[in-house]
Amino acid sequence: MTLKEQLWDPVAGFGVTFRTMFRKVVTEDYPTEKKPTAPRFHGRHQLNRWPDGLEKCVGCELCAWACPADAIYVEGASNTEDERYSPGERYGRVYQINYLRCILCGLCIEACPTRALTMTNEYELADTSREALIYEKSDLLAPLLPGMEQPPHPMRLGEDEGDYYRGSFSERYAAPEPGAAR
Ligand code: SF4
Ligand code: SF4
Repeated sequence: MTLKEQLWDPVAGFGVTFRTMFRKVVTEDYPTEKKPTAPRFHGRHQLNRWPDGLEKCVGCELCAWACPADAIYVEGASNTEDERYSPGERYGRVYQINYLRCILCGLCIEACPTRALTMTNEYELADTSREALIYEKSDLLAPLLPGMEQPPHPMRLGEDEGDYYRGSFSERYAAPEPGAAR
């Protein structure tokens, strides 16, 4: 070790410490104070609904195939006229996202053909067990807003699928999509 390294470098190191003592403190008081995220921050997922409460997910599994971390598991099933969960032929009977694997990249929401899957700004995903970090469909479904009914129930937004998807329905159902950031 040279004489410079022995004498000057420790002094230079204390200089950094000394300068930092007079800088503005940047410690954040989390979780007492939470800073809002950027609007397009990728947080926990949400499974969206149509304005009558039916689910937008059609159980196609495209999100699961797009996922690079193999974090999504979907099992689709067929709707019947007596038991309808989505306006199409199929719905997502089982839907799971494993947040031990998910890297919140957003490829799954890009793959979804019905905008059933979006991402919220919620980032508090820590928990104390592995089981708790596998979110089920019931954990991910958007809440029922005023005017929505809990499925299963018939399509309320029109006589046929054309009316339903074009939005030719009464003002009662003209509710905004649940607030999900993309
Ligand atoms: S955000 Fe990325 S890693 Fe997470 S489930 Fe979607 S595709 Fe998979
Ligand atoms: S969330 Fe979208 S992509 Fe995934 S199964 Fe449902 S409809 Fe298909």
